[in-house]
Amino acid sequence: MARPAFLNEFTYRNFAESGKEAEFDRLFDDAAQRVKAQFGKKYPMYIGGRETFAAETLIEKSPIDGSVIGYFQKGTREHAKQAIQAAAGALQSWSSTGYRERASIFRNAAAIFSKNKFELAAILSYENGKSRYESVGEVDEAIDFMRYYADELEANKGFLRRTHLKQSTAKVSASFQGAPSMKSEKVTIRMMPFGVFGVIAPFNFPVSISTGMSTGAMITGNTVVFKPSSSDSMTMLTGLKIYEYMKQAGVPQGVFNYLSGPGSEIGDELVVNPGVAGIVFTGSRAVGTGMITKAYERGLQKTFIVEMGGKNPVIVSKGADLDEAASGIASAAFGFCGQKCSACSRVYVHESIKEQFVSKLIEKVRSFKIGNPIRKDVYMGPLISANAFRTYSDAVEKAKSTGRILYGGNKVNTGMDGYYAEPTIIEVNHESELVHTELFVPILTVEGFRGFDDAIRMANDVEYGLTAGLYSKKRKEVSEFLERIEAGTVYVNRDTSATTGAIVGLHTFVGWKGSSVNGKGSGSKFYLQQFMKEQSMSITK
Ligand code: NAP
Repeated sequence: MARPAFLNEFTYRNFAESGKEAEFDRLFDDAAQRVKAQFGKKYPMYIGGRETFAAETLIEKSPIDGSVIGYFQKGTREHAKQAIQAAAGALQSWSSTGYRERASIFRNAAAIFSKNKFELAAILSYENGKSRYESVGEVDEAIDFMRYYADELEANKGFLRRTHLKQSTAKVSASFQGAPSMKSEKVTIRMMPFGVFGVIAPFNFPVSISTGMSTGAMITGNTVVFKPSSSDSMTMLTGLKIYEYMKQAGVPQGVFNYLSGPGSEIGDELVVNPGVAGIVFTGSRAVGTGMITKAYERGLQKTFIVEMGGKNPVIVSKGADLDEAASGIASAAFGFCGQKCSACSRVYVHESIKEQFVSKLIEKVRSFKIGNPIRKDVYMGPLISANAFRTYSDAVEKAKSTGRILYGGNKVNTGMDGYYAEPTIIEVNHESELVHTELFVPILTVEGFRGFDDAIRMANDVEYGLTAGLYSKKRKEVSEFLERIEAGTVYVNRDTSATTGAIVGLHTFVGWKGSSVNGKGSGSKFYLQQFMKEQSMSITK
């Protein structure tokens, strides 16, 4: 029987389609007020289900205006060791829990996230400066991940197989060395958890990516030590909420451990500790590849599931619908201030339409309101940190001296204590480092091309290969693009966004080249297998 279609959470779309946008806004506004009323509290870590406090605290401030969201524990290497021990202690019982029960716990968790979605989204907006639509969408994605992985686990019957002797021996002579025994041989092939997983998450999708990675590890029978972003950018409160909701859903003590504290200490301990069998990480290329090198240099053989950065191109061909292209590229480049791994940061446009395209793009970008993202009408909030703003200003200065600023390039004074920056469009030549380095700020480079072949060559000429887009009406170009583009997540003529907004169950979100180590995507049929090792067990009677 065919499986029913996967049902996404799609909160905003459901409210809008039933004419209840005002209700959506009221729910978010009320949640934002409730969240703000809780600002300034002190929060523990959780090791083996027990509240744990450290000697020092970390102050998490909102990038919107610097207000103190809360006081968190500055966990140490010692705490990481304790959490690894707690996770190891819970492994035997959790890995032998039936797969249906594990799936059902994560469906419970999805229901709890869904019930609390506006509150979680409001925390997220305060924590990393996302607009309400982006935040609710991210919580939806977390819910989708849990349900999708529960479905996958069940559809694959917990990844257990019995192979059949008749099929495998049909044409093999019994005298052939290595042939299966002619006696009755029963073979079972199973996928088993690796053990303790370290889950290390980035600041930009702290709800969906942390939930997706943790669910992937736990639903397949591993136990987890989870560490959200806790240094320059801080997303420790959403991390703690994830822990609390998972606990309410029935994840047993010790299976999921929550630590706050610097990556250089807690993250590093997860990497170098032999008690950790695998790391699932999403973040920058420097940190991702650094972790793998360090573990292997020490002779530690771990499983690494590592998703990294992007420098995502879009090609706009002659004859493309320029309104659609300008709109799709503007939202892909400047949604959440370009702080998405999938953000479009490079455009290659045919010389003959370049001027017309750029003016449409500027017209679109000019309409983006910048300010407090808690407000309904604001499209772009603050950058995550002073460091991110430094990257932005340095890049703008480089663009001024080596190319041209076509739009933006300035700090925006909102009267709030945060780093607000204009969406910025620059023209530099292809050799510029601004075309090749992931900046992770609202800066888009534009270059012209004459031949489609050149456009694809330039699009591929970076170390990354995460997302890519094309606007073209020519079938030949579309098929050439799909054949040759070096990226895992590829879109053609997408009006909502040129490179961002993968939907669980519809797309898979996957990177190639320097964007990923395994080349397997999240929200994909091949995601869960990465968290398991295979075993073939043969018994001859
Ligand atoms: P980041 O600076 O690499 O940090 C990611 C995580 O690694 C944080 O939790 C950080 O902890 C931790 N960490 C730092 N140093 C570590 C070390 N030596 N050992 C172990 N862990 C360490 O990345 P980010 O700024 O949060 O996120 C942005 C990056 O993530 C961009 O490059 C973006 O493209 C990428 N990203 C990729 C995807 C994808 O699916 N491919 C999705 C989202 C984001 P502390 O913060 O506590 O130090």
